[in-house]
Amino acid sequence: MIDAHAHLTDERFRTDLDAVLARAATAGITRVLTCGEDVASSERAVALADAHPAVRVAVGIHPHRAAELTEHALGRLRSLAGHARVVGIGEIGIDLSGRSAPRAVQEDTFRAQVELAAELDLPVTIHVRESGEVVRELLDRLPRVRGHIHCYSEGPEAVDGWIRRGLHLSFAGTVTFPRSMGLRAAAALVPADRILLETDAPYLAPQPKRGQRNEPAFVTDTYAAVAEARGVPVVDLAGTVGHNAAALFGGRW
Ligand SMILES: [Zn+2]
Repeated sequence: MIDAHAHLTDERFRTDLDAVLARAATAGITRVLTCGEDVASSERAVALADAHPAVRVAVGIHPHRAAELTEHALGRLRSLAGHARVVGIGEIGIDLSGRSAPRAVQEDTFRAQVELAAELDLPVTIHVRESGEVVRELLDRLPRVRGHIHCYSEGPEAVDGWIRRGLHLSFAGTVTFPRSMGLRAAAALVPADRILLETDAPYLAPQPKRGQRNEPAFVTDTYAAVAEARGVPVVDLAGTVGHNAAALFGGRW
């Protein structure tokens, strides 16, 4: 199994990351993609991947920090992207829930990072909150990139719009919540070659661990819920997702 999106540089992992990654290995998690939120956390993520062979990295600026994208920051991301364990640009995106930078700033930062990913031929990991339509329209005006929508949060009706644009959809612990019928219906609809699973740790622990700090080992609960929704054995889903991640993230994965 793999975890396609986490934040291992988060303060909440500062004291026990070795134990967290040991538990992930014991649970059968062979790869974790940790995502930057700004230049500093992207740099820390690269250093962390150097020390932990199961960790791969996406470098980027999160919509909450969109105002931090300067020419210098973009240059720093471009140079970090050359590192052997960097497999993507992220976490990038648009968040219209009211907790992020002003929309115009977010759009400029998103555009610049999608263009960087296209230039470097790297996939993107995209944060979409209350912004599905906006992100799809932005992508239509930008160079085509591959990548995944992380922590998919729309219903089954939006699946096709992302698939047609060549993107993968990644489901997090939210798909395990009792009331998430729409998410499970969406997870059942995604073509087998486009589905990914993730924790978004330390956020959004799956149902049995809800409210706790999330960690990569907990992704097993998400595999179980999505396997049930799709009517396939967990071992088959794990094989599918592992194959998809390797195909999406390329030779450095
Ligand atoms: Zn995230």
